[in-house]
Amino acid sequence: MTQPALDLVIAALERIREKNDRAPRASRTALARLQAFPVAASPREACTSATDRQLQAQNKADLLAAVRERVCVCTKCAHLACSRTQTVFGVGNPDADLMFIGEAPGADEDQQGEPFVGRAGQLLTRILKAMNFAREDVYIANILKCRPDMPAGSFGNRPPTPTEMQTCRPYLVEQINIIQPSVLVALGAVAVEGLLGTRAAMRELRGRWHTYNSIPLMITYHPAYLLRNQAPSEKRKVWEDMLQVLERLELSISERQRNYFL
Ligand code: SF4
Repeated sequence: MTQPALDLVIAALERIREKNDRAPRASRTALARLQAFPVAASPREACTSATDRQLQAQNKADLLAAVRERVCVCTKCAHLACSRTQTVFGVGNPDADLMFIGEAPGADEDQQGEPFVGRAGQLLTRILKAMNFAREDVYIANILKCRPDMPAGSFGNRPPTPTEMQTCRPYLVEQINIIQPSVLVALGAVAVEGLLGTRAAMRELRGRWHTYNSIPLMITYHPAYLLRNQAPSEKRKVWEDMLQVLERLELSISERQRNYFL
């Protein structure tokens, strides 16, 4: 982008600012993309902005690594510390605009040490792709960092108990405080309960904006729900929630994206 072009963009933003009560908003993703364009008149300034962003991301990565170290050796829930293969901290961009929160690791996540890698996780990855995100662009974490234990010889996963969630929640709060995403997405009722302490039917919670610590929070169904209920109407509900997220992040949405699952 040349300096005259950048001047035009800034002038347009100023016109929007004059016409509205609120200043025009721009997500960090949108700003990063704008900054990625070399400015012919002042390349040094452009480099400085990109470097600032890299330093910020590195700082957040270091802070997250320190929390991860504490989680790795955490034994606050003695029964889970005994039964887990490993802790499952979180994955993705430490400087993400968008952060997803699930409930707890399942058997696959416990084995691999990464959240959302089983069938539900693969579906989440496909949803992200439809939003034009890679997993590395966003941050994904769970309320609980250890797999809820199961009786010997039984299969499947169980939801975390309120006590387990309350015990582990401070780690998630630290992750959110470090990452400072522009938008949070809670996946499923258990994640909502762990994050907000609210118990309500998903049909009443999903599809509208809530807030967590002043961060816009979208609540939607857990991908596992979509695996159980494959009706296009349910997929469309989740997709409409994600369209709201894209709009909130001020990212462009194609006509094709708008019409998914219609
Ligand atoms: S679930 Fe959380 S609080 Fe409990 S032992 Fe695991 S890391 Fe620690």
